[in-house]
Amino acid sequence: MNNNHKKFVSFSLALSLLSLPVAENALAKKPAPAKVNLRIMETTDVHTNLLNFDYYKNVASEKVGLAKTATLIKQAREESRGKNSILVDNGDLIQGTPLGTFKAKIEPLKEGEVHPAIAAMNLMGYDMATLGNHEFNYGLEYLDEVYDDANFPYINANVYVDDHDNNPKNDKNKYTPYKIVNKKVKDESGKTKVIKIGYIGFVPPQINEWDKSNLDGKVVTKNIVDSAQKFIPRMKKEGADIIIAQAHSGFNGNLSNTEDVIYALSKVKDISAITFSHTHKVFPATDEKSLDALFKDSTGKVLPGVDNERGTINGIPAVQAGYGGGSLGLIDLTLVKEKGKWKVTHSQSSVRNVESVKANEKVVKAITKVHEKTIHYVNTPIGTTTDDIHSFFALVQDDPSVQVVTNAQRWYAEKYIALNKPEYKDLPILSVGAPFKAGRNGVDEYTEIHKGDLTIRSAGDLYLYDNTLKALKVKGSTVKEWLEMSAGKFNQINPNKTEEQELLNAGFPVYNFDVIDGVNYQIDITQPAKYDKDGNVINPGSSRIKNLSYNGQPIDPNQDFIVVTNNYRAGGGGNFPGIKGSEYVVDSADENRQILMDYISEVKEITPTADDNWSFAPISGNANVTFVSSPNGQNYLSEYGKITYTNQLDVNGFGIYKIDLN
Ligand code: MN
Ligand code: MG
Repeated sequence: MNNNHKKFVSFSLALSLLSLPVAENALAKKPAPAKVNLRIMETTDVHTNLLNFDYYKNVASEKVGLAKTATLIKQAREESRGKNSILVDNGDLIQGTPLGTFKAKIEPLKEGEVHPAIAAMNLMGYDMATLGNHEFNYGLEYLDEVYDDANFPYINANVYVDDHDNNPKNDKNKYTPYKIVNKKVKDESGKTKVIKIGYIGFVPPQINEWDKSNLDGKVVTKNIVDSAQKFIPRMKKEGADIIIAQAHSGFNGNLSNTEDVIYALSKVKDISAITFSHTHKVFPATDEKSLDALFKDSTGKVLPGVDNERGTINGIPAVQAGYGGGSLGLIDLTLVKEKGKWKVTHSQSSVRNVESVKANEKVVKAITKVHEKTIHYVNTPIGTTTDDIHSFFALVQDDPSVQVVTNAQRWYAEKYIALNKPEYKDLPILSVGAPFKAGRNGVDEYTEIHKGDLTIRSAGDLYLYDNTLKALKVKGSTVKEWLEMSAGKFNQINPNKTEEQELLNAGFPVYNFDVIDGVNYQIDITQPAKYDKDGNVINPGSSRIKNLSYNGQPIDPNQDFIVVTNNYRAGGGGNFPGIKGSEYVVDSADENRQILMDYISEVKEITPTADDNWSFAPISGNANVTFVSSPNGQNYLSEYGKITYTNQLDVNGFGIYKIDLN
């Protein structure tokens, strides 16, 4: 600094001091740094829950709906200090309820037509959006058609155009990787300031396998953390004061997992805040049980650096807003400008629940028409059932709600192979199903269909995802490991312990509890699980799968089987051992749910029964084993002699049941 400049500074400082009252003058040698409060609001995993309505039950549902989140957003915006707020959506927007399917497949979005999700969001004042994995379920063109009507920008930094030249250095992003937006804010003294907010978005790289048929040869998706390290320094160079990482990725204590990478992402330099997604959990967690399920690693240790009170991960403010518009995520930041740089000096994350608020009328109006059409569509009759079908106990015994799906898939695969792949017609066909609706998104998320008419709604209730059918050729040894992986859904039970023991491992997703029909087996839960929820071998010598047989004979590890499943599993979803890279015998574009509908239409009447091909291996002793499910399961207990209801609820409103395993 030269002398002239110094003089000028002290002169202007003297002038400004003159105008201050004397008492303050003595304390404040220079003006206090500008201080700004900024509220970040997040929606995520809305999954076309636009209205507070459950299309499977055909009734209002007060726990979901973007129209209700809109009300919370309005309130949160009004009360934010200095009225400085931004609103972001973190993806998994366009798929998940029959409304999403209706707009994608039944009455497909026309050019220029605004998707109802976008119509709602256009009314809500979003600042930025990023894409989730389910945005790719209906193909890249559909995705473009949806988002081209948004009045807010969207970003993704790790999906690249596949240029087929095997040179990663010249790869071009498919979408705008990041944006830096000049945000006008009011500081604490009421002065207007401009903060350059950088936004960057990410999606799990596994989309290329899960949505292979939509993405193969068109795009490649790269590692989230690597992509953050590549772009964030550029954003800083371009002047971003703060950086918000919108990661459609969850928290996983297993640091080798590349799908849920929030822990590693929080350590990337210069990220100011993280909005996260994908696992449908809430952060900060609202109870200890959820906290454990979120943050314990596979050995049961809670990872260091997670502050659930403040909502920070390794010191970085973070939030996850659950599922279905059921929650609004908030990060309240205090920013101070020091030496020309904005710094986060304080943060508090929180999550607000929509349950007690009313839907925003304008948003409701914007989606009423498609909502009514969807209801009409899902009411289309396709057959009947001779008995009730529900999934309340599908995690603890062979279940009709899973069996009807595996039966339909086998029916399809048999026909397909006879017609198109006769060379495989002598191989045994096994069929995989999982209880998709078994409480993942709360106690209301179970399948329950009453005796009588089956409609398209029932098919959606029985098959939640917009998956496509795939069949793989695998060895008997792979069938066994597939089941060992599935058996990780259960905690290890000590047969001699009389204190209550929880049967279900809450950290293991219900959609990864694969039942394989066509073989018979028992699960010995007194043994430790061989694999953790991420497919890592944790007990190499252990085996839970007993008496695995095909056609009454012990399974031959070298025998070939055709296993019918879906694109998610066949593409490596869930990291099941030995599956990825297997030969596709059926690689169809037909949806599992459509196949289920076709099957019901053809057989006309369903008699819901399970073939009891799997069960727990009986254990001796007085173990007091409990599991949680919907309290509504108690209405069906007469059919299940081994299950009794305790009349108690856990912290999340699930009913606690006892199961006799002798
Ligand atoms: Mn999701
Ligand atoms: Mg079965």
